[in-house]
Amino acid sequence: MQALIAQVGNFFLQHQSFLVLSHVRPDGDAYGSTLGLAEILRAIGKDVIAANEDGVVPRYAFLPGASNLQQLATLTPDPLRKIIAVDTSTLERLGPSFAAWQRPPDLNIDHHLSPGYASLNLIDSEAPATAQVLYNLVEALHLPLPASAATNLYVGLTTDTGSFRFRQTTQRTFTVAAALVAAGADAADLALRCYQSYQMSRILIIREMLNATHFAAGNRVAYYHLTPEMYDRSQALPEDTEGLLEMLQSVQTVEVAFVIEDNVQGKCRVSLRSRGQVDVNQIAQKFGGGGHRLAAGLRSGRSPSEIENLLLTEIAAQLG
Ligand code: 5GP
Ligand code: MN
Repeated sequence: MQALIAQVGNFFLQHQSFLVLSHVRPDGDAYGSTLGLAEILRAIGKDVIAANEDGVVPRYAFLPGASNLQQLATLTPDPLRKIIAVDTSTLERLGPSFAAWQRPPDLNIDHHLSPGYASLNLIDSEAPATAQVLYNLVEALHLPLPASAATNLYVGLTTDTGSFRFRQTTQRTFTVAAALVAAGADAADLALRCYQSYQMSRILIIREMLNATHFAAGNRVAYYHLTPEMYDRSQALPEDTEGLLEMLQSVQTVEVAFVIEDNVQGKCRVSLRSRGQVDVNQIAQKFGGGGHRLAAGLRSGRSPSEIENLLLTEIAAQLG
């Protein structure tokens, strides 16, 4: 790891222009890590563009530097601008606009188990957030950490750990959080912005979700089918559904929660969460997806009802 970190340091020194990008449907860690790394590189005099497929969503517009975040579709590839992907486990998850460039990233910094699709791959799959991997880098390479970067990294850390509740949260995570607060992240303000600043549409889509939720396997499975009509009625955006599965999973009996979301052309997208007994990564992989033991997802060409039945069967088999 030390040798790898030194290589990353050299990579930063050797080049002047960077494009930092992350995955489609970005979450707090994707935005925080993208914008945080961009601010760190700018602080050492680099020319940096931060971008992703979706641009900035209203929920994360408060992040320092968010107003400069570009949509990849508006950019043209520049061979001199080195590409850094953060928080993204596969090339495909960088989205269609980037795929059209047919150019793999030069550096990949992540905390997901990943095939390592870049020339240089800094992956720490024990870290709870890419933001923590980035802080480790700042510390090891003695990089500056402006308050704007600390704020972004703190948002990545708090959202990807579920407010420091998830299993990969360790003593190190709190040390990193403390260092980010010392560097200017306002923990109380960011908690308000991340967890108590939702649009009305979020409550309305939660109501839709609760109405649509089914329980199965003796209440050990909770699931719902998220339809375009539910989005229409609530006027919700995809980011309004962040954390909804965790809400279902908070029911004491529920071992596995999943959502099936309609995609274009009768296809669907599935997210799965497990309390521990069931390996949802294994199930997602059976249908061409992947992820982690406790959180996984897939895209499928099957119909929602077909995939629902297949998933219920697989989950029941693991639950015994
Ligand atoms: P989420 O349910 O939050 O979208 O995703 C949970 C985890 O599952 C992500 O961290 C990601 O690793 C994985 N994941 C989600 N969707 C897909 C997918 O379509 N393919 C693969 N390989 N992994 C996915
Ligand atoms: Mn992450």
